[in-house]
Amino acid sequence: MLVKEIERIAKKKGAELVGFTRSRQTLSYLRLPWARSAIVLGLSIRHPLLATGVRYPSWEEPRQFIDVIMDAIALSIEEFLEARGYRAKALGASNRSIDLRPLVLASGLGVEGKNHLIITPEFGPRVRFSAVVTDAELAAEPRNVPDLCRGCEICCEACPSGALNGSFNIEACRRYNQTLERDSGLLIKKCTLCTDVCPVGRM
Ligand code: SF4
Ligand code: SF4
Repeated sequence: MLVKEIERIAKKKGAELVGFTRSRQTLSYLRLPWARSAIVLGLSIRHPLLATGVRYPSWEEPRQFIDVIMDAIALSIEEFLEARGYRAKALGASNRSIDLRPLVLASGLGVEGKNHLIITPEFGPRVRFSAVVTDAELAAEPRNVPDLCRGCEICCEACPSGALNGSFNIEACRRYNQTLERDSGLLIKKCTLCTDVCPVGRM
């Protein structure tokens, strides 16, 4: 019942993907001893509010807008659970200090692709996530998602820094992005090629 209610609120607030995990092993990285379950929320970057006719140079600009929505949805779920006497903590999309990937993978909303990003059946890598952890034991199973990466290596070939040759070279990616920011004078200027070119989840 609680799970259905959470799903209903999340979808009403705009979430397109809702997943759950009760994996203690996964939750332990958050260092919240009271955490028993996590709700994972996803939203594609094709949000109707972005359909203003404005052409964005890359998905980095709409990403920041989507993160604000994702934070608000997570806070709504947090408030809902607290009002029912549960402990809850929203982990917002815009908080870069918390890595949500383990929760997303455990919830079965997506899998890791060769581009080192989480790709989903619905939107490929063009999706943002937030999450809520709670001490409620939520009776919901993770989604069973197949391996979606086609191994086409289009992302690796598109990568201008060579960061996707085999394992992910995070330093090469970071250095390239620092150069982009410096040359453009814009902190928002980020490389998104490995997100843009992936064919999974394209409509
Ligand atoms: S963000 Fe750009 S530089 Fe970094 S891995 Fe993706 S394509 Fe390569
Ligand atoms: S572009 Fe191809 S290889 Fe790269 S993540 Fe997408 S499906 Fe996998």
